[in-house]
Amino acid sequence: MTDIHELEYRELGRSGLKVPGICLGTNNFGTDVSKEDCWKILDAALETGANMVDSANIYTQGKSEQIIGEWAKERRDEIIIATKVGMEQSTNPNRRGLSRTNLIYQLEQSLKRLDTDYVDLYYLHQFDGSTPLEETMKTLDGFVAENRVRYIACSNFSPAQLSDALGIAESLDLENFIAVQSRYNLLQRDIEKELIPFCREHSIAILAYSPLRSGLLSGKYQLDKNPPAGSRFSLRGTDYWQRMKNEKDFAKIESFKQFAREQSVSLPNFAVAWILGQPGLTTAVVGASSADQFRDSTKAAEIELSSETMKKIDELYSS
Ligand code: NAP
Repeated sequence: MTDIHELEYRELGRSGLKVPGICLGTNNFGTDVSKEDCWKILDAALETGANMVDSANIYTQGKSEQIIGEWAKERRDEIIIATKVGMEQSTNPNRRGLSRTNLIYQLEQSLKRLDTDYVDLYYLHQFDGSTPLEETMKTLDGFVAENRVRYIACSNFSPAQLSDALGIAESLDLENFIAVQSRYNLLQRDIEKELIPFCREHSIAILAYSPLRSGLLSGKYQLDKNPPAGSRFSLRGTDYWQRMKNEKDFAKIESFKQFAREQSVSLPNFAVAWILGQPGLTTAVVGASSADQFRDSTKAAEIELSSETMKKIDELYSS
């Protein structure tokens, strides 16, 4: 068994599950990144102690889960696997959403691809207004009772949707969500108004996805230049780059670079450390296209930004 590096672990919400501050996001596994490189990134995750991986049944048409599953065979109990259900695009209405029928089918498929008997953290990927929440929560409760899922969570839920789900589970004495995964980074802070205060009040952990705004906060892009070769924005084509770039964000990025320099840290480390310094934020779900990049990102978990810097950023850029 590999010795797990002493990265700081945090309790996930009100549960006993201990998770690292950095979780490896895998929605690029099997596309921009070859299987061999994905395995190197996964090795780096284990070596650094950032032993939590985030996937979803829909990521790269199941390839992400498959790559993780093949790698995890020999070391299943050393990693925390999180995956998601409910964002399928199927034309068959019973093969998408959060109905009992779809949840049972999709969990079976995920477990097969992951080549495991259980998922550590199972997320509802998005709210489904066409299925009664009671049906969804009862089905999830059954998964936990069967030991096929250890903990449950949701993603992209509004505070009202989260509140409804929590209330139903509580009133029916069902397994309840311990965490929510939402988009959060220095450039996209909308969850600060309602979701963060709600989660803090109810002891629901928050995991931030796209903490580097898909790479914009790496600092390697310039507004008036083509994206560097090999970067996500160059690999995914001009339209994607055109949609992602704008003057306002680039002006902020320049200012964040300056803050990062003052703290003697790189911009990507600064961006992730900023998230981990926010009250209620447990973990940043960071993507990577190489093992070195992921190793670099894990350094952010050990950086504490000065309270003065945190305050200054709020004064200038809060939502
Ligand atoms: P991200 O983590 O903000 O950005 C990842 C990209 O940033 C990498 O691919 C890399 O870009 C660059 N990067 C990462 N670390 C770096 C470093 N140390 N130095 C320089 N550049 C670095 O965004 P994301 O990949 O969109 O999201 C991360 C994860 O969040 C996903 O994999 C997924 O697991 C999860 N997610 C969840 C949802 C949801 O609905 N729940 C939605 C989106 C994402 P290059 O490849 O260009 O080098």
